[in-house]
Amino acid sequence: MRKFESNKLVLATHNPGKVKEISRLLKDFNLEIISAADFGIIEPEETEMTFTGNARLKALHSAHQSGIPALADDSGLVIPALNGQPGIFSARWAGPNKDFNSAIERVENELIGKTDLSASFVCALALAWPDGHVEIVEGRCDGQLVFPARGTHEFGYDPIFIPQGHEKTFGEMTLEEKALLSHRTNAFKMLVDGCFNL
Ligand code: IMP
Repeated sequence: MRKFESNKLVLATHNPGKVKEISRLLKDFNLEIISAADFGIIEPEETEMTFTGNARLKALHSAHQSGIPALADDSGLVIPALNGQPGIFSARWAGPNKDFNSAIERVENELIGKTDLSASFVCALALAWPDGHVEIVEGRCDGQLVFPARGTHEFGYDPIFIPQGHEKTFGEMTLEEKALLSHRTNAFKMLVDGCFNL
């Protein structure tokens, strides 16, 4: 994998939950981290049908627009009993107002009558350079859904997801507790090993 040798990185997202988690995961690398929102970059439409395809598209867009390497995360909740939905449409289920209470309600309603409440969070990370080179990894975290939601509603579907082997939902965990288990952390381990550990 190509080594990351810049001291600046653009995060190709406007999602404050992602900026918070990713900045924490990269804190040991002394990088100047700039979000796409701070750079005034408008996020491209997510036209691909996979997490990796959308991560690649977003990272390349920000790298080309800024002239600085860019990291994009495309992630979501995959529910086997709903044929993998909301999946790449996880953000879109919250509508234009990003109302995750209604997205969670929709998940609960669509699961009425289903016995399989298993779910996985998936996170694809793409690191793109302005010359068009891209490295991509994918991490996951398996678990179960629980209703009613428990914990803070700060980030997406966190309050209805219990990771395997645990009792608290992601919404009830501290950022540190969640970071030990999450799909994003798993993807980051692969990316850091391949590109950041020189
Ligand atoms: P996108 O990657 O910007 O298309 O959106 C991903 C969406 O998936 C987020 O807006 C959340 O709804 C959901 N999601 C991804 N990762 C997490 C997580 O760690 N906790 C809760 N929801 C998440």
